[in-house]
Amino acid sequence: TETPLSGRVAVVSGASSGIGAATATRLAELGASVALLARRKEKLDALAETITGAGGTAVALPVDVTDREDVHAAARRVEAELGTADLVFNNAGVQLISPITDLRQDDWQRQIDLNVTGVMNVIGAFVPQLTAAAEAGKPADLITTSSIAATRILEKFSVYSGTKAYISHLTRLLRVELGQKNVRVATIEPGMVDTELPDHVTDPDASTLMTDLIDRIDVLQSADVAETVAFIAAVPRHVNLTEITILPTAQA
Ligand code: NDP
Repeated sequence: TETPLSGRVAVVSGASSGIGAATATRLAELGASVALLARRKEKLDALAETITGAGGTAVALPVDVTDREDVHAAARRVEAELGTADLVFNNAGVQLISPITDLRQDDWQRQIDLNVTGVMNVIGAFVPQLTAAAEAGKPADLITTSSIAATRILEKFSVYSGTKAYISHLTRLLRVELGQKNVRVATIEPGMVDTELPDHVTDPDASTLMTDLIDRIDVLQSADVAETVAFIAAVPRHVNLTEITILPTAQA
C-alpha cells in the first residue's frame, strides 16, 4: 500500500534516543527505509528490531559523527544496503550549558565538535546522495535540528546557542545552492522537548533550569517533533518548508 514516504531512503543521526529515535520510528511507519546513526549500538539494534518487527525496514549503523571517515563509511553502507539516501535528518546534538566564566572548555569543545563539525560531516557524506536522488526525480530533503536557542538570548547558553545559530543560518545558505538542484533544505527549531538532553549537562544549576520547566509545563514529546519532520518531507516536491519553530504551547 502507498504511504506518504514509501520508497524513501532516510538517514537519521542521533537515532538512539529522544527526537532522533522518535523520528526514525515515524518515518519508518510512513514507509521510509531508515538508517539509524548514533554511538550506542545496543540502542540502535533494539530500535532497528522494533521497526523491523512492525513491518518496516531499518539498519543500525553505529557511528560517531564527529569522525569524518566513519560517517563516509556509513554513507557507503546506506547506499549499498538501502539505496541512495533522499532524506537526511541531521539531528545529533548536545547541549552543555554553563556560565562562560566557569571555563568549562571541554564542554564548549564537545558542543562545537558535535553540533558544528558532526553536522558538517553528515552533510559532506550525504549531499552527493541527496543531489543524485533529486536528479533521479525523487524528493530529497536535508533537515537539520537547530533550536529556539539559535535566536533567543538565554543566559548560560552562549556556546550552545552559537552552534545552533550556525545551523539555522547555514540552512538559509545551503538552500540557495541545493534548492536549485531540487534538494530541499530545512531546519527545525524546537523549544523544550522531554528527552535525555538535560542528563548530559555538567553544571547542576543549568540542568535544574531545564528539568524545572519539564516539571512545570506540558513540554513537547519527541513524537511531536517527529511528526513535524515527517510533514516537511511529505509535502509535494516543489514545496520547501525551510524553518519551523515548534514550541510547547505554555513555554514563554
Ligand atoms: P538526546 O540526548 O536524547 O539525543 C541526542 C542524540 O545524539 C542521541 O541519539 C545520541 O546518541 C546522539 N549523539 C551524541 N553524540 C553523538 C556522536 N558523537 N555521534 C553520533 N551521535 C551522537 O537529545 P534530543 O533528542 O533532545 O536531541 C536531539 C537534537 O535536538 C539535538 O541536536 C538537540 O540540540 C536538539 N534540541 C533538543 C531540544 C530539547 O529540548 N530536547 C530543544 C531544541 C533542540 P549516542 O549517545 O548513542 O551517540
